[in-house]
Amino acid sequence: MSDSAGGNDLRYRRVVLKISGESFTAEGERGISMDAVTHVARQTYRAAQQGVQIAVVIGGGNILRGAEFTSGNSTIQQATAHYMGMLATVINGLALQDALESLGSDTRLLTAIRMEGVAEPYIRRRAQRHLQKGRIIILAAGTGSPFVTTDTAAAQRALELEADALLKATRVDGIFSDDPEKNPHAVLYRELTYQTVRDQNLRVMDSTAIAQCMEHNMPICVFNYKKEGYIERAVRGERVGTLVGDDARQTG
Ligand code: UDP
Repeated sequence: MSDSAGGNDLRYRRVVLKISGESFTAEGERGISMDAVTHVARQTYRAAQQGVQIAVVIGGGNILRGAEFTSGNSTIQQATAHYMGMLATVINGLALQDALESLGSDTRLLTAIRMEGVAEPYIRRRAQRHLQKGRIIILAAGTGSPFVTTDTAAAQRALELEADALLKATRVDGIFSDDPEKNPHAVLYRELTYQTVRDQNLRVMDSTAIAQCMEHNMPICVFNYKKEGYIERAVRGERVGTLVGDDARQTG
């Protein structure tokens, strides 16, 4: 990996930041709130200014998730619905790109489904080059294949871009023993192994994403994007939220 990312005290040189679509909308609503997008963009911009290379994998759940169309009487085929979900992530990616650029960031939007009039195609080496040049890259359209989510895309990109960690921004403080929005007694874990996540069926990411990270020992940090400064802190490698991993580099 390139040394172009700065600061010696930084734990990570390159990260994949998974941002869910729900962070782009007001609570309980759908669609895009530019205030919400700006909040995320500002934090991401400041995080990148620390000198860490950032690849954002953007979700689309604020607009559409493929699983919403799985009921038996839907006239939309499941695969079609997933492609619609992937296109939703491109809409979010465009919004994030403009929000980041209005702050002064150099960014590139790359899509896993080609749409040349809108964005560059995702090509691994090209993505790496952008990162080395200090650009924030926004990776949209997930993996380009249906029946998975952008969590899987984030795990996949973290591995192939040789990121040091996968940072998952969520609306809760990390991984809990139960759903904290339903159970007030749910306990927040500070650190977990992949195996525990799988054995206890903890809701972190989809199982493909966890399996991929486990196989390649990719650290995962799950944290709350709503808390001011937490994206910066997570990118800096601070202990925010829950850390999942087995490797020694986890235990600093
Ligand atoms: N999707 C897909 N393949 C991918 C990534 C996403 O088919 O590689 C579809 C899937 O239907 C998913 C939707 O796009 O539900 C939006 O992504 P996601 O649900 O991950 O968004 P988030 O929950 O992160 O906002």
